[in-house]
Amino acid sequence: MEILDLSRAVRERLRTASRVVVFSGAGVSRESGLNTFRGTGGLWERMRPEELATPEAFAADPAKVWRWYAWRHGAVAAAQPNPAHVAIARLESVFPSYIVVTQNVDGLHQRAGSRNLLELHGTLLRAVCERCGCSREMGEAVAESPERPPLCACGGRFRPAVVWFGEALPEEAFARAHEASAACDVFLSVGTSGTVWPAAGLIELAHQGGALFIEVNPEPTPFSRLADLRLAAPAGEALPALAAAIEALDRGR
Ligand SMILES: [Zn+2]
Repeated sequence: MEILDLSRAVRERLRTASRVVVFSGAGVSRESGLNTFRGTGGLWERMRPEELATPEAFAADPAKVWRWYAWRHGAVAAAQPNPAHVAIARLESVFPSYIVVTQNVDGLHQRAGSRNLLELHGTLLRAVCERCGCSREMGEAVAESPERPPLCACGGRFRPAVVWFGEALPEEAFARAHEASAACDVFLSVGTSGTVWPAAGLIELAHQGGALFIEVNPEPTPFSRLADLRLAAPAGEALPALAAAIEALDRGR
C-alpha cells in the first residue's frame, strides 16, 4: 500500500478537519511483536488472560499475577514502536486538535512521540498501591521484587496500573474520550475489533456526531459498514500511507 487513492469527498473532509480522534487497539502493536498476552511456548502459554487479569486472581494468588505482569512488562520494555505508532504521532502536528485514545497498555504511542493521549485501560509501565493509590515505575518495582508484589510504605501491595476484567474504566479518561469522540470531525479507528464495550461505543458516538469514519483493520469489524474509508491492511502499512496522503493535502496551514 504505497499510494492511497482517496475519494474527492474524503480528501476534502480531511483537508478541512480540525478535530481528530485516533482510537487504537491491540492491532497497532502487533507489528511490534505484542499481538497477544499469551506466550509462545513459555511459562504462561496455557494461562488465559481472563484467569489472571482480574482482581479475584490477584487476591487469590498475588505472586502468580505479579510474575505474569513482570513477564509482560519485560516483553513491552523490549518492544519498539512500529511505523503505525510513528505515523500516528506525526499526524499530531497536522491538526489543531488531535487526541489518541488507546486501549493498549504498552506505552508505545508515547515512545513514538504521541503527547495528547488517553489510556483507557491504564498502563503496564506503572505500578499502583492498592491501598493509598500512590504509584511508581513498574520496571523498578519488578527489579526490586520480581517474584511477588512489593509493599508500599503504607503497607499496601503494589499492583500493575492496568484496568482488569470486571473493573471500571478510569472515569476522567473515559469522559474525555467520550467528549472528544462526540465532537470530532474525523474518527480514525486502528487495529481494534470494536467489540470491547464501552470503549467501542465511542465509534458509534463519533458516527452519530457526523464524523468522517476511517477504519484500519485487516479483518472486517461490526463497524466496517459505517466506514467512509476502510483500509484492510496491517496498521504498520496503512498508517504511513494514510499519513503521507494527509500531509500531501493543501491544508493551508
Ligand atoms: Zn500505599
